[in-house]
Amino acid sequence: MDLIVARNRTDLIKARGAGTVALVPTMGALHEGHRSLIRTARARADQVVVSIFVNPLQFGPNEDFSRYPRTFDADLEVCREEGAEVVFAPAAQDMYPPDRQVSVHSGEMGRIVEGASRPGHFDGMLTVVLKLFNLVRPDVAVFGQKDAQQLAMIRRMVADLDVPVEIVGAPTVREPDGLALSSRNRYLSAGERQVALALSRALRAGAAEREPAKIRAAAREVLDAAAPALELDYLALVDPATFGEVPESHTGEAVLAVAARVGATRLIDNAVLTLH
Ligand code: AMP
Repeated sequence: MDLIVARNRTDLIKARGAGTVALVPTMGALHEGHRSLIRTARARADQVVVSIFVNPLQFGPNEDFSRYPRTFDADLEVCREEGAEVVFAPAAQDMYPPDRQVSVHSGEMGRIVEGASRPGHFDGMLTVVLKLFNLVRPDVAVFGQKDAQQLAMIRRMVADLDVPVEIVGAPTVREPDGLALSSRNRYLSAGERQVALALSRALRAGAAEREPAKIRAAAREVLDAAAPALELDYLALVDPATFGEVPESHTGEAVLAVAARVGATRLIDNAVLTLH
C-alpha cells in the first residue's frame, strides 16, 4: 500500500485504519534519528503515522523558524522506506485558526534548563503535541531521548492531564564520531562541526565520573576548552523526571544536559547516567 499524505483533518480521518496507531511527531528534515523512531513505532502498532509540522508556536522571535530546513519530498521517501502508512502534514493556518485562545501551560518545569533559555518553547511544544494526540488519537507516541526535557514534559502532561496515550522514549542516534543527529546539523560548516563535537565529548567526560560535582566539572572542562568557538548556554545534571538539579547525594538516573551555540547554530545533547 502506498503512503497516504494527509494534509488536513478530513484526510487524516479517512486514512485511519481499524487497528492500533503509533504516532511519531516530527518537524521534518528527517534523518537517521527519526528513522529509528519510525522503526520503534512500526514494531508497536498496526498503523504508523508520522506528523511533519514545523510548529511556529515553539519558536521564539529570534529563533530559526523561517530558515528551519524543509525537505518534504525527501521526508516522504524516508517514511515510505521505513514502512509508515500515513504522513500527516497540516498547514499552520489549519492548526492555528486566528481566533484560538486556549493552550497548554508547561508550568515551572517548562521554565527551567532548556525552558529558561527558550521562553514559551515548552508551552508551544506541548500545545502542538496535545493537538496531534487529539487529531491522530494514537495508542502509542514515540519521542527521542535527544530532547530529554521535551520527553519528560510530555510524560508530565500525559500524567497531569490524563491523556490516554502510551509514551515511548527512543535512544539518541549519533554519528560515528559522537555528534548527535539533528536537523540543525546541516547549518554547520565543516569547521563548526568539529567544534560541535565538544558537546558529546563533554558528555562522555562527565559520564566517566561518579559524583555530581566531578561529573559537572569534567564536562565543563571540555566545553571550556572549546570556547570561544563554542558558546556554552547551560550544562546541567538533573533528575530525569523533574529536570531539577540533582544534589551531591543523588543516586539512580540523572541526565547530563548541555546546550551551546556554535556559530549561528544552537545545539543540545544529553546523556543518561546512573549514579550509585
Ligand atoms: P524534531 O523533528 O527535531 O522535532 O524531532 C522529532 C523527534 O525526533 C523528537 O522526538 C526528537 O527527540 C527525535 N530526534 C531528533 N533527533 C534525534 C536523534 N539524534 N536520535 C533520536 N531521536 C531524535
